[in-house]
Amino acid sequence: MEQHNVVIIGSGPAGYTAAIYAARADLKPIMYVGLQPGGQLTTTTEVDNFPGYPQGVDGNSMMEDLKNQAERFGTDVRWGMISSVEFSETPGGFHTLTVDEGTQIQAQSVIIATGATAKYLGLPSEEQFMGHGVSACAVCDGFFYKGQNVVIVGGGDTAAEEASYLAKLCPKVTMLVRKGELRASKAMQNRIMNTANIEVRWHTETVELLGDQGVEGVKVRNLQTGVEDVIEATGFFVAIGHKPNTDIFKGQLDMDEVGYLQIQPGSTKTRKPGVFAAGDVADKVYRQAISAAGTGCMAALDAERYLAEFH
Ligand code: NDP
Repeated sequence: MEQHNVVIIGSGPAGYTAAIYAARADLKPIMYVGLQPGGQLTTTTEVDNFPGYPQGVDGNSMMEDLKNQAERFGTDVRWGMISSVEFSETPGGFHTLTVDEGTQIQAQSVIIATGATAKYLGLPSEEQFMGHGVSACAVCDGFFYKGQNVVIVGGGDTAAEEASYLAKLCPKVTMLVRKGELRASKAMQNRIMNTANIEVRWHTETVELLGDQGVEGVKVRNLQTGVEDVIEATGFFVAIGHKPNTDIFKGQLDMDEVGYLQIQPGSTKTRKPGVFAAGDVADKVYRQAISAAGTGCMAALDAERYLAEFH
């Protein structure tokens, strides 16, 4: 069985940054890219908030840049998905990872950077306009809708935060909430209610998105009256939660009730020796490429220090 110093699971900004640091520390990291090589940024259009790209960059190109940088220092980037794991409890022991339900490999340290997946409503028109009016990240894409009317779905803290972010850029933000109340914290609820250009539509669901090349309107239905109407908007933001990609770690690592990995504060350490977590898989608050990259760096440094004890 192959044995490695460090295996990185996932290929978003956290995974590639961990790879760059681990490779430069001569740890000869192996990366498995997973189902969505490049991660969530490959589903967005332009990335304008990652330092170092003054003109902005296409999400796919940026991830290609990160991949090239990781490979330049010797990261072995492999296609494939880690389908199950068996983490050792023994400090310095080898963890066993199964690739695509077949081959097994071992690693003394593992960096988990499997990210989280934004939930979408599942409407065909939402799929059709993905990246052309539909977004799951206001902080990433809101700027492209400056001066335009937008709609946001959801009633949690994310939706509330994103609605108030969008309200600074857009003349009108309509928030669609399926119940008669917000799930967001009281402070966020107050902010929403006190922002003049945010209109909350209670008991309202999305029927479909209308448009030709991009979103031009949102057809909605009041769940109490059944009445349908169309809101004119060019941006449609979905903020109904994320699902951390942690199913394969269940029972082996500590998670919160939604499945986000729990790490020791101020580090990337999980409760298993030599197993570290970076990026959105352990962060439900910030969820930005740059914060993911930062924790990817931390995970590689944590792994390097951990491995130094056994070599
Ligand atoms: P939440 O799960 O808290 O909220 C999801 C929202 O989306 C709910 O209002 C829910 O409605 C709604 N929703 C779910 N599915 C649908 C659907 N199919 N159609 C319409 N609406 C739907 O997710 P968040 O991402 O907002 O927050 C996740 C966690 O992260 C929370 O614990 C939150 O507090 C935390 N967070 C903290 C922040 C901070 O501290 N600054 C910032 C952002 C998030 P319903 O209520 O009817 O179920």
